[in-house]
Amino acid sequence: MAEAVTTRRFTPEAGCPRCTTLDMARRHAKDTHDHSAETDARVLIRHHMRTEHGRELEVGWT
Ligand SMILES: [Zn+2]
Repeated sequence: MAEAVTTRRFTPEAGCPRCTTLDMARRHAKDTHDHSAETDARVLIRHHMRTEHGRELEVGWT
């Protein structure tokens, strides 16, 4: 069984509309200081990267 790739930096996968959408939501929440929306987006991004792209985002990822 291959080890999950872990990364500290979130980069949207090229050609993945879900990555782009989630990243935009996170950036927008950050820009508007909407902390609960930012947290939600981070949870969704982390889950999406794990399940769709096999990448584990480390705690404190940016
Ligand atoms: Zn994606």
